[in-house]
Amino acid sequence: MINQIKFKSLIKDLGMMFIPLNEAQIDIYYDRLKGFDDSILEEAVKYLYDTHTYKRFPMIAEIRDAAFQAMRELPEPTVDELESEFECEVCHGIGRMVEEVTENGGYFHSAEKFCICPKGQREKDRRAEWKRNQRRGT
Ligand SMILES: [Zn+2]
Repeated sequence: MINQIKFKSLIKDLGMMFIPLNEAQIDIYYDRLKGFDDSILEEAVKYLYDTHTYKRFPMIAEIRDAAFQAMRELPEPTVDELESEFECEVCHGIGRMVEEVTENGGYFHSAEKFCICPKGQREKDRRAEWKRNQRRGT
């Protein structure tokens, strides 16, 4: 989702290449296109510089098409981006899970442990680090 100030500046960029919109038109364009992210609309503007062959300002439908085109052509997400979107099915992104533990004699209790997912392992490392610091008294 793009904010209105950023959107207006992109529309003004397009207005330098094509016949500019008036303020009332810009408001309608914003209402129809605000669901796209900044980066997508920035790419859409560049795409329209390259492909829009009319002097008139691109129609809302043309900017939408350009935005969808930009979404298709966006680079593959990095590992970090994938991991931040990845939700672990075991811990649901919390990094910890509760496990039933059986002791000798069949006595059950629940124990909280770190999940095996990247998030859980990071939490585990952080906890180990904290323990080391505690022992050192820092
Ligand atoms: Zn997990």
